[in-house]
Amino acid sequence: MKALFNRNNALRIMKAFSPFQDLRCPFCHSGESRYVGRNSPLSHVRICDSCKLIFRAPKQDMGFNEYFYQKAYAESHHGAATDLPKDEDMARLKDTHFEGYAKDFSPYISLLQGLNVRSVLDYGCAWGYGVYQFSQSGMKAIGIDVAQDRVEFGNRHFGDVLFYDPEMILARGIKVDSIFSRQVLEHIPSPSIAFDLFGKILNPGGTLLLEVPNCGGRKAKEMGLKWKPFSSLVHPLSYTSEFFLEAFREKATTIHFFESPFDPEVELERFLRAPNHLSPEGSDLCVLVQF
Ligand SMILES: [Zn+2]
Repeated sequence: MKALFNRNNALRIMKAFSPFQDLRCPFCHSGESRYVGRNSPLSHVRICDSCKLIFRAPKQDMGFNEYFYQKAYAESHHGAATDLPKDEDMARLKDTHFEGYAKDFSPYISLLQGLNVRSVLDYGCAWGYGVYQFSQSGMKAIGIDVAQDRVEFGNRHFGDVLFYDPEMILARGIKVDSIFSRQVLEHIPSPSIAFDLFGKILNPGGTLLLEVPNCGGRKAKEMGLKWKPFSSLVHPLSYTSEFFLEAFREKATTIHFFESPFDPEVELERFLRAPNHLSPEGSDLCVLVQF
């Protein structure tokens, strides 16, 4: 009960009932958006008429995001992405490719290898279990995550390859062939925060491989906002294939949508021969983009 009355919650309550709420789209800043539904007593969900981004109002700011992912999320959310393994278990975990502890990245790695990708940034890398798997496959791999404690843990075990501040990557002049981001873009206040960095560090002809909860899929259509990944305290943004088509239409040479889990050989073949622009029905939407 005490936690309910902290400063951040007080600000949320004030924002939720403010008549001066800023309802512009957090990505394209259009003022034209439609009400989708109420997802909690303190917030509702809107869809931008222009870029099709689905966002929660009141909007989340980066300050809250940093506070939340450094402290509250890491403490309350028990999952591989945030729980740090014990230092003494790391040798065994590396030997077993983090079996039972973290997601197996091999389908994503095979797909990127099929596109001759030699270097990758894992955006939202947590403590670096994905970066480690990418580098074991022969790629040059780095990662970025907002949570400094996880980044420091990863750097102790994997070398100096993780960052918590985009400026640190830019200052080193690092460029990559590809950017991978799995179940991260729905957690940030605006896609621009990620896309601005992508634009600065991706080599010409580079590749993006993104995965987010599929808010244009079967579950989202059937259950709407009752489908948990659609919108929650930890998901201020929700995505459909329409948004990515709109966001990358001008700069991309190829965009391909598919669902996860997937067969990397099949998806590579489809990407190269007949890219799919339609929304898949599965719960997780993957987007493969080549520039
Ligand atoms: Zn918009």
